[in-house]
Amino acid sequence: MEIYNQNGLPLYRFNSLGELDGIVHGVTTRKGGVSLPPFDSLDLGLGRGVDQDILANLEIVKNAFGLDKMVYAYQAHGVDIRHVQGNEDLPVSRVDGLATDRPGVGLLIKQADCQAVILAAPDKAVCNLHVGWRGNVADMPGVGVKFMASRYGIDPGELHAAIAPSLGPCHAEFINHPNELGPDFLPYQESPDHFNLWRVTKDQLIRAGVRPGWIEISDICTVCHPDFYSYRRDKITGRFATLVALK
Ligand SMILES: [Zn+2]
Repeated sequence: MEIYNQNGLPLYRFNSLGELDGIVHGVTTRKGGVSLPPFDSLDLGLGRGVDQDILANLEIVKNAFGLDKMVYAYQAHGVDIRHVQGNEDLPVSRVDGLATDRPGVGLLIKQADCQAVILAAPDKAVCNLHVGWRGNVADMPGVGVKFMASRYGIDPGELHAAIAPSLGPCHAEFINHPNELGPDFLPYQESPDHFNLWRVTKDQLIRAGVRPGWIEISDICTVCHPDFYSYRRDKITGRFATLVALK
């Protein structure tokens, strides 16, 4: 990934997706917003009820990307995906995937250690998935690839995929992994109780038909990197976000 400045807002972007003409995307950091500590400053959470600072921050992000419409959801650690047009009441209720074939509609997934996974077929459709460990257990990446095929007729081999900053194997500790993750995750165990969820997602995408060379992993751990909010590091904290839209 590289850090860049979009209309005054510092953002990270994937090298692979940055080369595609048909989409805009980026990952927000803690910087550039109006929220006060411990939520400083670009908190996009909306998890604590309606908060004027968070609404102002969402507007900052929307304007930086030059979007008319930006859709976000009340995320529920499930596998439901919604096709959106941009005129939905916000937040969209209890979904963990947003997809659209409409140009200019931003799809925003909020994070603080969970993965956001972008699926993009430039000029056709984009999808943004919220994938926590529960999402990995339920194969949310595979569900997303199937949604792109069934809803928009996109072959998995056409999809570019990217896994946003999130819990790295250095900090993905699961003491109850026999109960929570199960035996299927043992190949991804890198040290006692630590797992590589980035590789889990990559393999789930590959199994669903995405080309291995078209999957980019950010390799940025949110617990390690101070630019991002991390629930595991700070407990009381805000949410950053990954955004994708068709041009
Ligand atoms: Zn880490």
